[in-house]
Amino acid sequence: MRRVVIIGGGITGLAAAWALRQTLAPPEIVLLEKSNRLGGCIHTEYCGGFLMEHGPDVFLTRKPEASQLCKTLGLPLQKTNQDRRGAYLRHGRELYRVPEGMSGLVPGKILPLVSSPLLSRRGKLRVLAELLIPSKADETDESVEHFFSRRFGKEAFSTLIEPLLGGLAGGEAGSLSMKALMPHVLRLESSYGSLLLGISRGSTQKAHSSLRSLSGGLSSLVTALESVNLGSIRLAHEVTEIKKTAKGWEVGIADQVSLQATDVILAVPAWSAAKITRSVNPELTKLLRSIAYRSGTMVHLAYHQVAPSRALDAYGHLVARRETGSVAACTWSSVKLTGRAPAGDLLFRIYLRGTDLSDEAALSQARTEMTVALGITAEPLFTRIHRFPAALPQYTLGHTERIAELRNKTSSCEGLFLAGNYLDGVGIPDCIRTGLHAADCALHRYEENSSLARED
Ligand SMILES: Cc1cc2nc3c(=O)[nH]c(=O)nc-3n(C[C@H](O)[C@H](O)[C@H](O)COP(=O)(O)OP(=O)(O)OC[C@H]3O[C@@H](n4cnc5c(N)ncnc54)[C@H](O)[C@@H]3O)c2cc1C
Repeated sequence: MRRVVIIGGGITGLAAAWALRQTLAPPEIVLLEKSNRLGGCIHTEYCGGFLMEHGPDVFLTRKPEASQLCKTLGLPLQKTNQDRRGAYLRHGRELYRVPEGMSGLVPGKILPLVSSPLLSRRGKLRVLAELLIPSKADETDESVEHFFSRRFGKEAFSTLIEPLLGGLAGGEAGSLSMKALMPHVLRLESSYGSLLLGISRGSTQKAHSSLRSLSGGLSSLVTALESVNLGSIRLAHEVTEIKKTAKGWEVGIADQVSLQATDVILAVPAWSAAKITRSVNPELTKLLRSIAYRSGTMVHLAYHQVAPSRALDAYGHLVARRETGSVAACTWSSVKLTGRAPAGDLLFRIYLRGTDLSDEAALSQARTEMTVALGITAEPLFTRIHRFPAALPQYTLGHTERIAELRNKTSSCEGLFLAGNYLDGVGIPDCIRTGLHAADCALHRYEENSSLARED
């Protein structure tokens, strides 16, 4: 009997389980999740008419996997409020509009950028000088900080790009890899010789993407995937180790009898996969362990009929790293998406770098941010604090080579497949793609083996 064991019940593992089930003769599927709930980083909570997303709140449509999966499962997509699009950057006590079209770090339009009050006259001239900066001659990896400072100057980098990056990928821009995080931007440089030239020819417009969510929150996707996989899921099953056997794999589970599997899909963070594979291949484990992760804390604040000191006409604001405190971003949740708070009430979520602050200190920083940025001093109706230790992988310099090496090492472990957000993008669509791909590889291996057996 063929049994595929999926380790990890986040969106990656659930998508893999769903894909395995789509074949005419699916194998036996067992999904093992160490915690008491599915979804991993995806976690929606309802309270008194407020809908809080402790983890992701939207996904991109440019990468189609998430929207397609939702449609297949019959989940209607929810648009973000189009008339409030955009974001602000907080510098000191002031909020400045992020120049239109800057969502993906590369300016989508030139005019809003060079007319932004965020940049000095000198900074704007340096941005325009990008047209004359020659392309990089070699193909070695370059840090995000080095790339954007080289092309647009240090001022544009530290004032604009670095805070935007904090809201997207986070981490230290000086160590993040352009090759792994923004290959499309590198292509723009190599194709046009200049990013601004590429933009003026409409190249970034084509890549325009929309944000979507689900009216019941992103956990509705988890619930839908859970209901099609019901018989396969085992919660509170922490995998401690996998070992190669003559017939496949032995999956060791804490305080439980181990399971035999023909194939194993590892849909857990790289640091967890490193522990699980320690007796499979030491080099594989070392590579998995070398992938750095970032931690964060999400603080929700719910308010009843408060009047902010400014119009809430965007999805939120970002805070430059050079500002004091740990606040990286604030989502104006009930403005970004409808149905997040009862009529007349407001919901905000503040993302803090790291998990070191006590509840009291995290809350104090969040409330100070509400006062400084939005003039809200009122006592919140309620608050929530949610920590994500080592949740987001950092695509540091050399990441693409590390992943190529990782794939190479895994290919020699027959019946073992890796999936997750450290491989090919951190977003939900990326995770779904790696989950579907791992399932496809497992099924393909089975088909190949069956046809070989028939030939014999
Ligand atoms: C705060 C935050 C905000 C984000 N915002 C967005 C966003 O707006 N849009 C977007 O597209 N993406 C966003 N992301 C990224 C995206 O949510 C994640 O990359 C994605 O959900 C990861 O899914 P996963 O299944 O690969 O991993 P996880 O969600 O980490 O799931 C892995 C699962 O494996 C389990 N596990 C681990 N070890 C074991 C073991 N030994 N045995 C059994 N089970 C184990 C864990 O308990 C967990 O349930 C955000 C992430 C975070 C943390």
